Amino acid sequence: MFLTCKQVSNHLSKEDYAKLSPFRKFTLKFHVLICPICGKYNKQVMKFQDLARNFRKKQEDYLEDDRPESPHLNEESKKRMAELIDQDKSS
Ligand SMILES: [Zn+2]
Repeated sequence: MFLTCKQVSNHLSKEDYAKLSPFRKFTLKFHVLICPICGKYNKQVMKFQDLARNFRKKQEDYLEDDRPESPHLNEESKKRMAELIDQDKSS
């Protein structure tokens, strides 16, 4: 059940990890928790995917409910998230 760093990266870059099987998600999270090499970066990727999903969800809510105060993902937020990931890659 132990994945290599490469396998973890492949999963996270090619697929939405939320769509993976619970067992696969568990093995990915477990690796990220214990791995000092890729853990930090992949944790960011997982967080980014969560963020992106939350923003999408909020956008959908916004479109459905037409609530003017609902937050939605603007260009500035997208840029900031991309920068977060870039920073982590280079550190
Ligand atoms: Zn690793």
